[in-house]
Amino acid sequence: MATINTHTKVLLIYTGGTIGMVRDYDTGTLKAFDFKRLLKSIPELTQLNCQIDSVSFDTPIDSSNMNTTHWVAIASIIEEHYETHDGFVVLHGSDTMSHTSSALSFMLENLGKPVIFTGSQLPIGDLRTDAKENLITSVQIAALQEKDKPLIQEVALYFEYKLYRANRTTKINAEQFEAFASLNYPPLVESGVHLKVYNEHLLTNRQSKKFFVHKVLDNNVGLLRLFPGLNPSVLNSVLETPDLKALVLETYGAGNAPTDAWLISGLKEAIKNGLHIVSVTQCSGGSVLMGQYETSEQLKKMQIINGKDITTESALAKLMYLLGSNVSNKSFKTIFETALRGEMQ
Ligand code: ASP
Repeated sequence: MATINTHTKVLLIYTGGTIGMVRDYDTGTLKAFDFKRLLKSIPELTQLNCQIDSVSFDTPIDSSNMNTTHWVAIASIIEEHYETHDGFVVLHGSDTMSHTSSALSFMLENLGKPVIFTGSQLPIGDLRTDAKENLITSVQIAALQEKDKPLIQEVALYFEYKLYRANRTTKINAEQFEAFASLNYPPLVESGVHLKVYNEHLLTNRQSKKFFVHKVLDNNVGLLRLFPGLNPSVLNSVLETPDLKALVLETYGAGNAPTDAWLISGLKEAIKNGLHIVSVTQCSGGSVLMGQYETSEQLKKMQIINGKDITTESALAKLMYLLGSNVSNKSFKTIFETALRGEMQ
């Protein structure tokens, strides 16, 4: 049975996003909240039986402005406080939360503590805000311990009563409170009258290997979504991008692509010249099944990387992480096709 011990320490990391904003009722505009006042304005947090500390980005940002430098900053804060805290809650805008949290899942190797991303659709100061529940339950989950060990030992994302494995999520709605989905992996925890933890879905750092933070990411990566009518010159301009090292190709359905000679030869040539191309499905759920249809046979033959059921967000982050880790060209495909943090089947 998971419980919260009074000595448990949770670190709140505030990066920005709607959650930390208040509405100026005179002008109707949203403005950044004084984060130091956050704990005071949510007295419910003090009822949780744990100690909550906080750090904030000097300049909180809308998550549309997130980049790899910010990812390194978040990872570094976690590294700095890893020994002193039992769990981490990252407050982040919802727009790119799946990207940042997927990246963090790769950057934090042998993670043995919870890193829970959360945010909200309405600012914390709004009457009908979803921020309070998201924040309070995230802290509660980050503080959960079983036999004196953190219950969650991975990067997760909590939104609207569900905790998901972060690198399985996608933002699917800009209007409803249920903004995220994880179509290829079930929730880790559901919050109702009780917190229902699905232990069988959790990742665990069983061998207690040493925690390590990867801070080198190589963003010479691209993304191309196939669509009927794709023009050869658009394909070529992408494939000929200077310094491009890897490309996520969003294919149709179970990994299918047109059989046009210009497309097949363009991709084949690029792979021969050293570009890593990953096929992911542009469907929200399901998996690439290379060779199931004639329209993916050619891709399979040219040794395109099989992204299986990975999300686009996670594929991009995994590429930046692997390119930054100097993985050899020979083993790149095999390593990409291996689940490193539960991000694919
Ligand atoms: N634009 C905001 C952001 O992602 C939206 C949000 O926080 O939900 O930072």
